[in-house]
Formats: sequence, structure tokens, C-alpha cells
Amino acid sequence: MHQALNILNDIFGYAAFRGQQAEVISHVAKGQDCLVLMPTGGGKSLCYQIPALMREGVAVVVSPLIALMHNQVAALREVGVHAAFLNSSLSQADAAIVERDLIAGEYDLLYVAPERLLTSRFLDLLSRTPLALFAIDEAHCVSQWGHDFRPEYIQLSILHERFPSVPRIALTATADTVTRKEIVERLGLDGATLFISSFDRPNIRYQIVDKTNGRVQLLDFIRVEHDGDAGIVYCLSRKKVEETAAWLKNQGVYAIPYHAGLSASIRRENQERFLREDGVVMVATIAFGMGIDKPDVRFVAHLDLPKSIEGYYQETGRAGRDGQAASAWMAYGLGDVVQQRRMIDNSEADNKFKQVAATKLDALLALCEATTCRRLRLLHYFDETTADIPCGNCDICLNPPVVWDGTVVAQKALSCAYRTGQRFGAGHLIDVLRGNNTERVRQWGHDKVSTFGIGKDLGDNAWRAVFRQLVALGYLVPDNEGHGSLFLAESSRTLLKGQQTVLLRQQPEFQKASKKPHQVDDSFSSDPAAHGLWVRLRAWRTDVARTHGVPAYVVFHDATLKELVRICPQTEDELRLVSGVGAHKLERYGEDLIEILRGI
Ligand code: ADP
Ligand code: ZN
Repeated sequence: MHQALNILNDIFGYAAFRGQQAEVISHVAKGQDCLVLMPTGGGKSLCYQIPALMREGVAVVVSPLIALMHNQVAALREVGVHAAFLNSSLSQADAAIVERDLIAGEYDLLYVAPERLLTSRFLDLLSRTPLALFAIDEAHCVSQWGHDFRPEYIQLSILHERFPSVPRIALTATADTVTRKEIVERLGLDGATLFISSFDRPNIRYQIVDKTNGRVQLLDFIRVEHDGDAGIVYCLSRKKVEETAAWLKNQGVYAIPYHAGLSASIRRENQERFLREDGVVMVATIAFGMGIDKPDVRFVAHLDLPKSIEGYYQETGRAGRDGQAASAWMAYGLGDVVQQRRMIDNSEADNKFKQVAATKLDALLALCEATTCRRLRLLHYFDETTADIPCGNCDICLNPPVVWDGTVVAQKALSCAYRTGQRFGAGHLIDVLRGNNTERVRQWGHDKVSTFGIGKDLGDNAWRAVFRQLVALGYLVPDNEGHGSLFLAESSRTLLKGQQTVLLRQQPEFQKASKKPHQVDDSFSSDPAAHGLWVRLRAWRTDVARTHGVPAYVVFHDATLKELVRICPQTEDELRLVSGVGAHKLERYGEDLIEILRGI
């Protein structure tokens, strides 16, 4: 393992392995198969990149996404590793050159799209080359149930049949057991060792706020906690993506849209901008995200509810891959619950599917309505039951909601829905409860019902929160025609009869200045000299990235630049000690950096 550590230090410039990296690397370097489950940002790439450098021959990396391959190869070349990719973005002539170099043994790593790898021509090529290993990245793409399914992935079992002595390492950040089983079965990994890391992402702060005016709350959140940071905002529909991006832009946020309805060229262009430029906010549907390995995404925001905890975890996991502080923020309201419930009801799927979808949604709603640590709930959902100490880094730990006995209030709400015929939405029911004498109330004669005006003691927002929770808890059910009318579920009977109590949560008002300001102080704003240095280093990095045609983070991560500012090394020996500065980068950039650091 000495050799592996040397490679980590000298080539990648990192001081120590993280989590299970060392174990996985030693396993693969010995020529054994494994399946690695590690959260996003856990450092999966090094698990095959280092064995690739330790073993004879070329490591073939199967990857489903072109952009991801490009960035990985660019990053490897930056540290001086011989790597290339083969996919449809190359001209025939360029692909021929890569193939020639492959046979000549020029590469340590070759990234290949699965459809190309599986051609008999390419497999023949491989049989003429010494092979270090096969790495199957994003291995959950074999799963037909996930939305990242790639049919070609299923055929990857051929690798083992053709090259039985070459070790295989499959990797994924998808945590659930069903997918894990599918990967083992379909890739023929029965004998492989399983490496499962904790799925906790301690640097991500989870926040779920009551939605009153989603995009205004989002803007506040961005301004207060993530001004100028790169982030992703997820919306459910293409239309909402467009509108939100335009609105944020109008408010001075550098926001651009991404969804499957945009032309391929615009999608590509926007993705490139997001990856290459600093501080871009991508407003997107879930069509955007898989394979985005940008390490410095500082926040992921949801303006609409995802479908499940798996989805929520996967999407929020794109924040903070570099291990620095990041946020997962969501605004959630009654409309979201109604919308998602209706989508399930109205889907064409069979009952079994609907039932599964409803159960998954309920688990997510329980997370939204939680009164205890969100992180513990997330981890428990993924069967990580050993975690039992509240995290101190979620909204609930930082700002516990008030829990109150909502039985009487719930009874009022339920009987109001009942007395008005179970055909009205929350807005109208709240008018009746609060005794608002609107035209609609008079038109239906609801100023005469017994529940008229019995809820004056609560404000509109408080009532909305009550209705939201009653729907989330399943006491009230939205119709499936989209009118938003609410009717009583069977379970509400015991509540109405007073045989059961219900606890409701009252979320603290959205606070402009959160208790602990979360913004990463990467501008060194309190120290003008350090700030100046930070600005100069970033400008230098932008220049280099542009000249090399790579994203800025491929040159150096923010974390590396920050460390440079903090310790301000003055010699190459001191520079070598900074995390992220390996031998190749030192040779390439050392002089430039020292000039900047010495203030010359
Ligand atoms: P994953 O593929 O698991 O999401 P990556 O392989 O992209 O994660 O790694 C996430 C980030 O962490 C990368 O930018 C990588 O350079 C960095 N990283 C990985 N391992 C280490 C380590 N041992 N020390 C410091 N940084 C690391
Ligand atoms: Zn917590």
C-alpha cells in the first residue's frame, strides 16, 4: 500500500486516503472484483484510478456520459496521467489515433462509452492489449427501475466472459438494496466484495421550509446564504424551469435553464457554462444532473417536491462534492403534496406501482414534516441505523420547530371540509374557518355553516400549514381531478371522534439571517490582503482554465486556492505540502503561483 499512498501524494497531491479508498484500492490492485457503494463526493474515481497506475496495462473505464468522461480525462491529464476517451464526440480519424495509441500501450486509463466497448471490433482490440482492470462507473445504470437505465449496461457481463482474469470494479452512489442486488446479478459480480460506505454527507446542511412564495424564498436563501455561488435549482416542469430562470436572472442572479425540451445545442452550451464558469445557478428539471461531477456546487434547491427520498438524496447529493460546506434547501407546501398525490393517482401505472409510489412519497413527506433531525431520518431510511446522534447541521437541529397538540384545530378543519360537502380546496375552507365573508363563501351559503368563523384565532399561513400536514399525514385526501378539493380519509374518523390526538409542527418563521450564517467565507472579506490574493488566484485560474479548455476546478479546487491564501507558501517545497498540489501541477504552475503568492 506504500505505492498507492505515494501515488496519492505525488500525483494527486492529497495527503491521505478518505473512508474506504485505501481498502478498495488494495483489493483491486491485487486483482479482485468489487462493488463500491460510496456517496457522491466520496472519492470513487481514485478507487480505480490509483490501481490503474499500479497495475500493468490499461484500465478501461465504462462511463455513460460524455461530459463526465471529458472532465475526468482533462483532470487526469492535468496531473500528468496518460488518459484518453473514446465516444461519439470524436471524429473517426481521432478515434483511430486513440485506438492506435491504445495498442501501443500509451494509456494508463481509457474511458469508453458502453455501446462502443461492446462492439466486437473493440473487444478484439482489447484482447490484443494488456488490461489492468475494468471500472464500471455509475453501475446503477443496469437497473431497469431507476431513471438512469442504459440498456447497454446489461450486456457488460460480457467483459467477465471474455476477460475472466481482469478484475472489475463497479461503482455507484445509489444506496438502496434493490439496486445493489440488481447490479450484482446483472454484472455477474456474485463473488465480488462489497464495500459500503456511510451515506452521510456531513458537509451538506439540510433545510426544508414551508412554502409561502417559493421563488421569493429561494431568492432570499440565495442572497443570504449563497450569494455568487454555483447551485442547482430543481423544478418539476419545463415551464417552471423557464420562468424561474428568467425571474432569477431579472433579480440579478446568474441563472440559466436546462430541461429536455431545449435543443441539444442549448443544453450542451448551458451545461458547459455551468461547469466552466464560476457562480452559475442552473435551474433544471431532473433531466439535469447525472454525471455532473462539478465539485463546487454550493447548493441544491428544490422548488417542487421530489418523488421519493432516493430522488431527494440523489439530487441534493450533487452539492458539495469537494467536502466544503454546502446546502440542500427545499420549499414545500400544501400544493406540492396535492400535486404529487394526484400525479400518482392519475398515472397509467398498475396498482402495485401506485402503491409503491405512494409509500415512497409518504416517506418523503415524513421527512418534510419531521420534528427531529433530518439527517438521522435520511440515514435511517437507507438502513444506516447506527447513526443516532442529531447532526447539528440541519434546520431542525439548528432551529427546532415547535410541536403542539393540534387535535382541536384538526377537528375544526376536518369538520369544515365535511360540512361544506368535501368538494372545496384549502383556500376556501380557510376562508370559511376564518369567517371571511367572500363572495364565494356567500354564494355557497357557507357563512351559514356551523364551522363558519370558528378558526379566527389562526392566521392564513398557520391554517395552510395545518391543512398541509393533514394531507401529508393522510387525514385529508385531494381529489384526482385537479380541483384541489379535499375529502376525508377513513382515518380522520377517530380524530373527529376525539379518540386520537394529532401533533402538529409549527415551523419557525423563515429567518433572513439564519442562526449560524452558513456562507462559506471564501472571499476572505474581513482581510483585504487575503481577499486580494484570493481574487488574483481565482483570476489566474480562470485564465489557465480558458487556455487549456477545461473547467476551472480541473486546474485547482477552491479548497486548494483557499489553503494557498491561508498558508501563503513562498517556496516550491512549501507549495508541495498544499492539498491538491501534485508533482505535475507543481512543475507546471509552481513558478506562476509563487510569483502571485509573493505578490510580485
Ligand atoms: P465521487 O465520484 O465519489 O462523487 P470523486 O471521485 O469525484 O467523487 O471525488 C470527489 C472529490 O474529492 C474530487 O474532487 C476528488 O479530487 C476529491 N478527493 C477524492 N479523494 C480524495 C482524498 N483522499 N483527499 C482529498 N481529496 C480527495
Ligand atoms: Zn440534524
